[in-house]
Amino acid sequence: MLLNQTTRPFIYPNTQLLINNRWVDAADGKTLAVLNPATNLEIARLAQAGITDLNDALTAAATGFEIWRKTPTVERGKLMRYAAELLRKRVNYIAEIMTQEQGKPLFEASAEIMAAAEIIEFMSDEGRRVYGRTVPPRISNVHNTVLKEPIGVVAAFTPWNFPINQIARKLSAALAAGCSIVVKGPEEAPASPAAFIQSFIDAGIPAGVISLVYGIPSDISNYLIAHPTIRVITFTGSTAVGKQLASLAGMHMKPCIMELGGHAPVIVAEDADIDATVKNVATAKFRNAGQACIAPSRFLIHRSIKTAFNAALLTHMHQIVVGDGLINTTTLGPLANARRVTAMESFTHNALHCGATLLAGGQRIGTLGNFFAPTLLDDVPTTADVFNQEPFGPIICVRAFDVLDEAINEANRLSYGLAAYAYTSSLKTIYRFSNELQVGMLWINQAAVTWPELPFGGVKDSGYGSEGGSEALIPYLNTRLVSIAS
Ligand code: NAD
Repeated sequence: MLLNQTTRPFIYPNTQLLINNRWVDAADGKTLAVLNPATNLEIARLAQAGITDLNDALTAAATGFEIWRKTPTVERGKLMRYAAELLRKRVNYIAEIMTQEQGKPLFEASAEIMAAAEIIEFMSDEGRRVYGRTVPPRISNVHNTVLKEPIGVVAAFTPWNFPINQIARKLSAALAAGCSIVVKGPEEAPASPAAFIQSFIDAGIPAGVISLVYGIPSDISNYLIAHPTIRVITFTGSTAVGKQLASLAGMHMKPCIMELGGHAPVIVAEDADIDATVKNVATAKFRNAGQACIAPSRFLIHRSIKTAFNAALLTHMHQIVVGDGLINTTTLGPLANARRVTAMESFTHNALHCGATLLAGGQRIGTLGNFFAPTLLDDVPTTADVFNQEPFGPIICVRAFDVLDEAINEANRLSYGLAAYAYTSSLKTIYRFSNELQVGMLWINQAAVTWPELPFGGVKDSGYGSEGGSEALIPYLNTRLVSIAS
């Protein structure tokens, strides 16, 4: 394992607020610092929105909604596809920006941007399939029409782990449904979302349809959620914050989409192909340094294969190259912020204290930036913090099981219900996993598949609503009955 560092200069811009298709400073001139997680040095300033800016964004979004909802669906789709095309052309430039602010290796940043282009295209097509219906009347001369109409202005709150993808899912579905949107992007990683949205401006999106603001998250969400212009809330982030925002939205009778935390169990049965399984789960685990809501988290391995499984994991982990994501050979970047390093240290100490065995890693690397070694903890008791709280970092924690019931019960024990992974060659066991694991997304004998045409979302404390598939448009549409007697 190496620690790659670079001093080569890359472009990284300051970020302003987008209001009425113009990039502007905050009305009161306030700014926030943007740090590079590979060095923890300030690389730019970010405009910090206050109430005046939010009011301007809301006024623009209300106007933008009136224009966009009347724009024919086919025209909306054309514009969205053009934005996707521009995004693809800009992939290298935007990826370098994302890596500097978020830390992930360049190849992951590029993959995220290309995936976002696919999301935009898929949603633009879905927009053409928003059909109403007619319902046969009980009385002659009555005509019942069920209309699907855009709900109005959307407030979207998105996190720093996938700075573009998290916006792409919300924004594309909202635009495809005919809504305008005010995005509160991630303060830690603001410039790649700005570059992403610039593609829509350059594609010709009317002023006000998209606004992008940054600032103090709680101030912005408190103001936007309560504001009458906003008709629906969409949030991705931790369960704790999701519950706060959903409560506030409930007080104002506004629907929500909540894509919250997870603690994905990985069940490996005794008849699984160990090498194929390790390749799948280790890749999924260390993507984005483990900072993904669907990252494999609680590894439940049949006792008869645990030693061989851990050995294969260690072989994979020794090939990981930790370093600045700007260097092409890096496969694991820094954690996105210093809070995550502290969290990883605390999870490791607590697990060891509870009786776990450290097989690899377990500490930060170097003193510059937020690097944490890929970590393997074995025989982790279920009482350890890391087996109960979302790790959101490069820690694998393993424990053995003897009978399948035990693994399934452990998988379902937590209030999270986002994703699960399961590996077996038995059809009977596959059916058990399919029927009994309480999650919104279950991947069997493969890594995570998150194509835009597939639903993406959780159950239980992992939230509600889907951010993929045709289901993604549902929260952005009102159902309205018009019944006419002639
Ligand atoms: P956090 O809970 O403080 O913040 C998570 C995200 O929510 C951030 O983007 C933040 O800006 C935003 N946020 C926080 N308070 C908000 C508010 N009142 N209104 C609107 N937005 C708000 O935690 P963090 O330290 O940034 O991240 C740590 C935890 O967050 C992780 O352990 C993970 O559980 C969760 N998280 C989940 C996702 C996901 O994809 N589901 C993404 C990022 C973080």
